[in-house]
Amino acid sequence: TRTMASEKDKAQQAAAEGPPAAQQPTIFDKIVSKDIPATILYEDATALAFKDISPQAPVHFLVIPKKKTGLTGLSQATESHEQLLGHLLVVASKVAKQEKLQEGYRVVINDGKEGCQSVFHIHLHVLGGKQLGWPPC
Ligand code: 5GP
Repeated sequence: TRTMASEKDKAQQAAAEGPPAAQQPTIFDKIVSKDIPATILYEDATALAFKDISPQAPVHFLVIPKKKTGLTGLSQATESHEQLLGHLLVVASKVAKQEKLQEGYRVVINDGKEGCQSVFHIHLHVLGGKQLGWPPC
């Protein structure tokens, strides 16, 4: 019937789009689309690196995928994300060099409530430019 076909269409559409959380646009989508400004340090077809608006170290930038591909956070990672996650780390390393962090730096991924994640579009923090402390908790 028409109703059954409609429900199936919706289910297929939802499955194709992923869970609702993965669909919520975040502030980072607007940075990717250049609808809001950011100090962009690096950009390629897959990734974007830009300065954090609230820096926690003399150098603090974020590396994000331009498309979320369902990856709201690291906890959502599957084998299908291996290439993307590897690329983000290589970009972090390149931009760290570009930002002259030759004395060292830290890469952080916050995940979920206890990890203090606030933007649900996966991102690497790269922090440096001073002697960092440890542990971070
Ligand atoms: P999280 O807490 O999710 O790991 O990190 C989110 C980061 O995004 C925070 O460090 C925060 O300062 C940064 N951030 C949030 N909104 C903006 C924005 O509009 N522009 C920039 N450049 N950074 C942002």
